[in-house]
Amino acid sequence: MQEHPLLVSSILTHAAKHHRGSKLVSVDAAGAVTRSTYPAMAVRAAQLAHALARLGVRRGERVATLGWNTAPHMEVYYAASGMGAVLHTVNPRLFPDQIAYILNDAADVALFVDASLLPGLMALAERLPETLRVVVVMGEAPLPALRVPVVGYETLIAGEDTEYPWPLLDERAASALCYTSGTTGEPKGVLYSHRSTVLHAMAAVQPDVFALRALDVVMPVVPMFHVNAWGLPYAAPMTGASLVLPGPRLDPASLHALVEAEGVTFSAGVPTIWTGLLGWLRADPARRFTAPPRLVVGGTALPVAITAGFQKEYGVPILHAWGMTEISPLGSVNTRKAENAHWSDEEFLAYSRKQGRPQFGVDLRVLDAAGAPIAEDDLAFGELQVQGHWVASGYFNRPGDEAFTADGWMKTGDVVTVDALGSIEIVDRAKDVIKSGGEWISSITLENLALAHPDVQLAAVIPAHHPKWDERPLLLVVRKPGTTPDAASILSIYEGKVAKWWVPDGVEFVDSLPLTATGKLWKAEMKKQWKDFSFGS
Ligand code: AMP
Repeated sequence: MQEHPLLVSSILTHAAKHHRGSKLVSVDAAGAVTRSTYPAMAVRAAQLAHALARLGVRRGERVATLGWNTAPHMEVYYAASGMGAVLHTVNPRLFPDQIAYILNDAADVALFVDASLLPGLMALAERLPETLRVVVVMGEAPLPALRVPVVGYETLIAGEDTEYPWPLLDERAASALCYTSGTTGEPKGVLYSHRSTVLHAMAAVQPDVFALRALDVVMPVVPMFHVNAWGLPYAAPMTGASLVLPGPRLDPASLHALVEAEGVTFSAGVPTIWTGLLGWLRADPARRFTAPPRLVVGGTALPVAITAGFQKEYGVPILHAWGMTEISPLGSVNTRKAENAHWSDEEFLAYSRKQGRPQFGVDLRVLDAAGAPIAEDDLAFGELQVQGHWVASGYFNRPGDEAFTADGWMKTGDVVTVDALGSIEIVDRAKDVIKSGGEWISSITLENLALAHPDVQLAAVIPAHHPKWDERPLLLVVRKPGTTPDAASILSIYEGKVAKWWVPDGVEFVDSLPLTATGKLWKAEMKKQWKDFSFGS
């Protein structure tokens, strides 16, 4: 057989040659819509690669981006990786200190920034890395003065050659770099290879995963700075699917309008986005989908109520997936298999709260505190470990991190149960489980049950000190506007649903809960805020 390295550049080359009729729609921060095609994108990526070479960007050097889901951002994806440099996507919603830390840790040589994010960049002006040689502004804006040259994207690529001889790189060479959200400690970099990226995309498009095909119109709502938008900028062109890149306007009305106008058939994002969209749809019976798109949801626990609402009221099927930055991100999906093929929709709906099973290419194991495999009985908890073709073997710049075991597995920090069908269900993060008298209580289970109370908008369960049991669960609740449930009413929701000793010892009502830059409950911050609270005092 022939042997060709698995390279990121081959994906765009394929789409440009064989899917010339697919559309690329891009919305910028001001709401302006640009229409293009894969061949046109390939031309601009080639021009950009020439420009980067002219600027002296060499193989292995990091090219950072602070951008939304837009076509220019995707051109940087392909130009940087394609020429052998490393695309480094940075989350603009992080705190300035974290962004400065990440840019310096990565030692980026070029930085592409969306025009709408320039004010944020200026706040970092003094802390840009020494290694930085140029800042490129994507979109229209007056160019600011910085220590390094600042140039507009269109000026940069204008007049460059429209073809680039994409080099035959070693497929194990780095193609992209992404930092974990860093809810505790410093963010850590994960370096993807060309090989892992291509294999991950090939797995993502499969029927039991994203089920993408040339006729799909894919709208990644998950940001391109969050684990490469779950691989969609690679998976979509690999199949020839059209792409709709929605920019930063992710409010329900804007997303719904794009789905309708562009005929979106597939979208992906975190539960917060879809919860918002469901609420918006329900507010007016006239709000429907002409053709309901399929949704992939992951990133945090997905309440069954959301899946049920979309499926039953709007005909929108939801696929529940689990993943993490360290694993590119796809680890498991919850789709049917032989054992549950005959279940009714209702039965499978209840089951869809689980994160599911691994697809080919990754393997999972779950070990208890003593390092023994747990029983697959849906009850025993253990830490989920993972290995596979798109799983990190270490962190960038950080040799010997304890997340990686001597026998080649990565500890995910997620605590899960496994059922007889091999489906995992995340019950907590290892650092967030409540350790009550030596027994573990799942904070996530308690949060999901609390969310089923009609007056609860947001809920978090954290450990609070208890003189006898060490830790006991404390439930923090944001009430829905206009409601005034008391603690007893909220706690009654647990009756008959969890063991008595799981029921939180107290409920505190708060106006808001701290969220991380990726929209997840920020438990570390809550624990800090409530560290002096004790059930004993
Ligand atoms: P990140 O690297 O920022 O994508 O975060 C990865 C973490 O998000 C995982 O280790 C899980 O704790 C959490 N996560 C991802 N997907 C899910 C899911 N479907 N259900 C519950 N938690 C999830």
